Amino acid sequence: MISGETVAGNMPVKDKNILGQVYRCSICGAELSVIKGGRGQLKPICCNKEMAALETINSVYVCSVCHSEFMVIRGGDNLEPICCNKKMSPVRSLLR
Ligand SMILES: [Zn+2]
Ligand SMILES: [Zn+2]
Repeated sequence: MISGETVAGNMPVKDKNILGQVYRCSICGAELSVIKGGRGQLKPICCNKEMAALETINSVYVCSVCHSEFMVIRGGDNLEPICCNKKMSPVRSLLR
């Protein structure tokens, strides 16, 4: 089931909610994304069905000045979020 690009070394851990992890309802197409990952068993339900975890992980950018965090809902090719006049850097540490 692994096809195309896979981020090496970023295999999701079972009982931890991954920052940026996306869940999708197969019936109505609703999508959720984890804004703050914690421990615990996340089991979002929509249309009376458990939502499926997608392989998509939304990128999160953090401002080093004011610590604002942005999540990319739909990525582009030249995304450069700027906060406090500084380029924001993607958060990666939580994906390990
Ligand atoms: Zn639904
Ligand atoms: Zn800022």
